[in-house]
Amino acid sequence: MSQGRILLIEDETKIRRFIQLELEHEGYTVEEEQDGRSGLDKALSKNFDLIILDVMLPSLNGMEVLRRLRQNSQTPVIMLTARDEITDKVMGLDIGADDYMTKPFAIEELLARIRAALKHRRVDAPSLTAIQIGSLKLNRNRHQVTYGDEELELTKREFDLLEYLILNKGIVLTRDAILEKVWGYDFMGDTNIVDVYIRYLRGKIDDKYQVKLIHTVRGVGYQLKL
Ligand code: CA
Repeated sequence: MSQGRILLIEDETKIRRFIQLELEHEGYTVEEEQDGRSGLDKALSKNFDLIILDVMLPSLNGMEVLRRLRQNSQTPVIMLTARDEITDKVMGLDIGADDYMTKPFAIEELLARIRAALKHRRVDAPSLTAIQIGSLKLNRNRHQVTYGDEELELTKREFDLLEYLILNKGIVLTRDAILEKVWGYDFMGDTNIVDVYIRYLRGKIDDKYQVKLIHTVRGVGYQLKL
């Protein structure tokens, strides 16, 4: 099992390769990007447990990536800075970096910081405030759901159901599992309520659009996928 999903945004190939190999050796799943813009896109479109972000990057520097990331996501970020970028360190922590490493650094030190950041995260609530599938985006802090530019009106229960589906996108979920997670253990009704709410949700996120996200898995339950 993966120790965690890490996004590594670093333009220097040698450093990137080195860090990636070390992290994979430690059991982490690593995805990499070489410039700020594609790094930010990836950070916002997928769930990561941690992001390692270099400051000096092409297309969008690390500070700007972090600033934009923090508008939507609280995923822990460890920044990599050059030795003389002291002000960058301060700025990085100021706009929401969780930690920083000064290059060159010992890999053991980075691994220790990663463990600390991940441990800290597990105590907190899930840290990603914005989650999405395709054009459908759910902001957990603002309780807001948008499809492209359009804002959708969802009831509290529909919101909770959609949140659970997005967090488990690609996975087939049984009615019982949905009932337990969205309605709670002590819910007295039967699983038909799940079908009813799936129908409500389809009316809002699937019926009007070409792409259908909610799929019925006959005899089992439901799956959210593109
Ligand atoms: Ca760099």
